[in-house]
Amino acid sequence: MATKAEVLDFIRIYADKMAEHRQELTDLDQAIGDGDHGINMSRGFKAVMEKLPAVENKSIDEILKTVGMTLVSTVGGAAGPLYGTAFMKAGMSTKGKEELSNEDVILAFDEAVGGIQFRGKAVRGEKTILDSMIPAIDAIKASIKEGKTMAVALVEAEKAAWNGVEYTKTIIATKGRASYLGERSIGHQDPGATSTAYAFQAANEVAQ
Ligand code: ADP
Ligand code: MG
Ligand code: MG
Repeated sequence: MATKAEVLDFIRIYADKMAEHRQELTDLDQAIGDGDHGINMSRGFKAVMEKLPAVENKSIDEILKTVGMTLVSTVGGAAGPLYGTAFMKAGMSTKGKEELSNEDVILAFDEAVGGIQFRGKAVRGEKTILDSMIPAIDAIKASIKEGKTMAVALVEAEKAAWNGVEYTKTIIATKGRASYLGERSIGHQDPGATSTAYAFQAANEVAQ
């Protein structure tokens, strides 16, 4: 289950993490991209924090849609529109809900992935955001199916996300700028998968 207060906490904590890990994400992107992922994410979430007060008393779907639209409009490059679409799609799936059941949370995550895949045409194994996001969501689904609480499920999700980040070091990038490097992208950790793992870290912290 997730309340509106938890959704807001998640956004705030994730925004803090994007500011805190700005340099790390930028360094990762320097190695296989154009060195702006930390700048993009921290700029986008700074803009989100500026918009949040105006919508925090609105519905969950309005809040998530505002986050998404802000990311799309303030972040250039690949990640802004991809994360933005994820938040917008997640938001749309929660329409009319004042709080989210576990099923609603899972649906929102599935919609987020669907949005990223619709926009970016990537699948798992291409060294992208999806390599931490999909395993994390699979872990949530498996845990909830086993009757665990969302708090326990999110511990598992964060672990799966970081495992996915590790996995990105072993594969060739076939989407995004890192794909220009071909085999030379092997050995490097994907910045987008890393920023996604921080999202699951934030969600986990909110749930505990
Ligand atoms: P840009 O590459 O335009 O500078 P960023 O540096 O902000 O954008 O984001 C790069 C990250 O975006 C990559 O590390 C990768 O995880 C993610 N990414 C790139 N293309 C895709 C895609 N088609 N689908 C999913 N994620 C992608
Ligand atoms: Mg970049
Ligand atoms: Mg760029």
